[in-house]
Formats: sequence, structure tokens, C-alpha cells
Amino acid sequence: MSNPKATWCISLDTECPECGEAIDLFEQDWVNAALSDRTFDVCERDTRWTTDVNVTCPKCSVDFKVDFEY
Ligand SMILES: [Zn+2]
Repeated sequence: MSNPKATWCISLDTECPECGEAIDLFEQDWVNAALSDRTFDVCERDTRWTTDVNVTCPKCSVDFKVDFEY
């Protein structure tokens, strides 16, 4: 009998500076693509790939930049 599974649950949360919408960047395809391509790794920060990252708010469509942290 195999053990029950334990599932990591990771989010990359930010907030739109315009409308206040809470955004989990893991729900955006480009983040998953960047992780698959190893452009950056989970929990990476303070690198050129995780600083001044362009984000588009899914609610109000404003563009803004974020720096990843954990
Ligand atoms: Zn917004």
C-alpha cells in the first residue's frame, strides 16, 4: 500500500497597484512557461529574471512591474 500524497502548494502573490486585485502569478501562463523553461526557479529572487518583472492585471489590464520575494 502506498503512502498518501503530500502536495506542495505554492503561490506567487501580488496586488495590482491600480485596482487592488489580488493576483497569483502562478495562474498566468507565462509564469508556468518560465518555470518549465527554467528561466527562473521556484522561490528565486534578487536576480535579473525576478526583478522588474512585467505583470498585466487580469482585472483592469494595467501594466506594472514586480520584484519577486519570499
Ligand atoms: Zn488591476
